[in-house]
Amino acid sequence: MIDVAIIGGSFSGLTAALQLGRASRSVTVVDAGAPRNRMSPAAHGVPGWDGVPPSEILARIRADVMAYPTVRFVSDEVMGVARDTDCLRLECANSGSVETRRVLLAHGIRDRLPDLPGAAEAWGTRLLHCPYCHGFELRNRPLAVLGIHPMSGHQATMLRADWSDDVTLLTGMGVDVDIDGLGGVSLDARPVTALRESDDGITAVFENGTSSVFAGVFAAPRVTLADTPAEMLGCAMADGPLGPFVLVGPMGQTSVQGVFAAGDCASPAHSVTPALGAGAMAGVGCHQSLLFPDMFPPFEVSK
Ligand SMILES: Cc1cc2nc3c(=O)[nH]c(=O)nc-3n(C[C@H](O)[C@H](O)[C@H](O)COP(=O)(O)OP(=O)(O)OC[C@H]3O[C@@H](n4cnc5c(N)ncnc54)[C@H](O)[C@@H]3O)c2cc1C
Repeated sequence: MIDVAIIGGSFSGLTAALQLGRASRSVTVVDAGAPRNRMSPAAHGVPGWDGVPPSEILARIRADVMAYPTVRFVSDEVMGVARDTDCLRLECANSGSVETRRVLLAHGIRDRLPDLPGAAEAWGTRLLHCPYCHGFELRNRPLAVLGIHPMSGHQATMLRADWSDDVTLLTGMGVDVDIDGLGGVSLDARPVTALRESDDGITAVFENGTSSVFAGVFAAPRVTLADTPAEMLGCAMADGPLGPFVLVGPMGQTSVQGVFAAGDCASPAHSVTPALGAGAMAGVGCHQSLLFPDMFPPFEVSK
């Protein structure tokens, strides 16, 4: 039986493992190797790492973590997790089961990309989710926002205010987008049927056969936690603007005894720096709950 099993070995999970390793606790990090920003050439807004590829940042953090002898890293996917008589048990796809006193969920979320040919290929390079992460590199160039979320107008307004004078909101996506008060944003109601990425931009192809070229297209896709360990354990969740997230207390404790969570899966907003911070707090929370079992009771969901 180990002390802590961490599901997900990316920004939040590795940072939690670092705290636990420094307390010489036995930790197994099980990671399926698909961090959310893996297709992005550079991560931005991460102090000390601004503009560095996500894979490089993660390799460096992992090297730090693996210097601690009680931490084990397993490249595998957790397919099941449940409470056993006196422990929690993970079932991994290829490496059998892990019995553990605590589970820390750091498995992130899954993006539900717009159902358009070319969207998956352009995701993270020319089809982008966040002005703070990727807007500066495309500033003062023609930008579009796919109107796939009621708040897409909000995203377009932000981009128009501080990133580019040339912002088009593509409203023909079948979603009722709030377009009140969109100062300076152009509206285009032609339904988009495909996206095509090229070296210096992305083309939106419209239903009527016409097309427009942009330096980047922004979109805020819904996210899901369906079929993840958080759902399997029955953790209480709330609905954020982009989708569900696990409810946690200040030290990452979830509504399920012995289960902690951190990072994108436990936050309504998603970026690397908060995931690092939440991972650190949940790692400490897990550790202290091993020493003082009553210190962090399950997070109570207020009615
Ligand atoms: C295209 C794109 C670009 C982005 N760019 C930026 C940026 O520039 N700056 C920024 O701050 N933020 C950026 N973000 C957000 C950032 O990627 C996330 O906030 C961050 O990755 C969250 O870290 P995490 O550790 O919570 O989850 P993730 O990084 O998503 O890692 C979760 C890990 O858990 C693993 N996993 C999932 N399920 C299981 C399972 N069942 N068993 C085992 N392992 C599992 C996954 O394979 C993955 O390795 C971007 C997001 C996207 C989509």
